[in-house]
Amino acid sequence: MLTNRQIPISEEIIRILDREFNGQVRKNVSLADRTTIRVGGTARLYLVPMDVGVLQRLLHRLRDLAVPVLPLGGGANVVVADSGVTRAAVISLVEHIHDIDEPTISNNRVKVDVDSGVRLSSLLQFCQERGYGGLEFLTGIPGSAGGAVVMNAGAFGREFSDVLLKVITCDGQGNLQSWAREQLNSGYRRGGIPLGQLVVGLELQLKPVSPEKIEKQMTEYRQIRRQKQPYGVPSAGSVFKNPPGDYAGRLIEAAGCSGWRCGRAQVSRKHANFITTEPGATAADVFALIARVKEQVRESFSLVLEEEIIRLGDEYLSAWVVGEEELL
Ligand SMILES: Cc1cc2nc3c(=O)[nH]c(=O)nc-3n(C[C@H](O)[C@H](O)[C@H](O)COP(=O)(O)OP(=O)(O)OC[C@H]3O[C@@H](n4cnc5c(N)ncnc54)[C@H](O)[C@@H]3O)c2cc1C
Repeated sequence: MLTNRQIPISEEIIRILDREFNGQVRKNVSLADRTTIRVGGTARLYLVPMDVGVLQRLLHRLRDLAVPVLPLGGGANVVVADSGVTRAAVISLVEHIHDIDEPTISNNRVKVDVDSGVRLSSLLQFCQERGYGGLEFLTGIPGSAGGAVVMNAGAFGREFSDVLLKVITCDGQGNLQSWAREQLNSGYRRGGIPLGQLVVGLELQLKPVSPEKIEKQMTEYRQIRRQKQPYGVPSAGSVFKNPPGDYAGRLIEAAGCSGWRCGRAQVSRKHANFITTEPGATAADVFALIARVKEQVRESFSLVLEEEIIRLGDEYLSAWVVGEEELL
């Protein structure tokens, strides 16, 4: 028997959800438009819950209907396959679930509750204006707070887990759960969020710092990024994780791959761990280039680079929140 994981979501299921979650259900939505590398197909079913209560009911209902779930944040670290996502519901919290609560301040500590869908740029601006320091290292990193937790986004020697106090998640039954940072098995570019959990919010611990000092630090980081990384062109950030004790960019450059092209995708000459795209590029261009670079680095250094980017699509099942076992 085929499971829902193996067949496209039916029109009937989309109709049912549309009836029950009016205005929050969309069909055939371009994912290229919602990712920073700007390639890939469409989401057959794209859901934008209005608030956390709706999200809980929605996840519960999707489980009843045996529809797998795929969360999308700011789309800054993902590459969507050209065939898109037809067998899972793509859920975005970026559109409606993006509040930042007024922080509580005591003992020189600032605690702030943030929704998963908040853009990092808005969060940084909020904190800079009010003088809450600690997030400056995120300057120039695109995406959402939820995505930053999942990827444990980091730069300049710091990572998101350094400022995290707790994470609130929702499981496939619609139950909310709170996780202290210590309960998460986080590491380099790994937030340690347990499988089957969608991040809905987080609590951060920051400290009072003058807005001027924060602004100065952010400007410095912004300048370093613009010097070292391709700026203003579509990419998904670092393609590969840095291997222990080395840099993927250095290895790729030393292997002679800078400037390599496949179709309309190119290994950046400015930072070889970035792949940039031109209008008309496809995910197939990007994946073919990744394969060539990986092979060249393997031949040159007997080292297999691990991808940092997350591939999304029907054929990449590991990123799905609700697994087949849970649906059977
Ligand atoms: C120009 C550029 C520079 C970058 N520089 C850096 C850098 O210096 N350091 C760094 O670490 N990263 C960097 N990145 C990568 C990216 O910005 C970060 O990984 C960011 O945290 C991704 O967040 P997002 O919301 O876009 O997540 P997405 O890309 O949308 O998703 C990433 C993964 O998280 C999952 N996910 C998203 N939201 C949720 C949720 N609410 N619950 C459960 N799972 C979820 C998705 O399914 C996917 O598997 C860069 C990217 C670009 C384009």
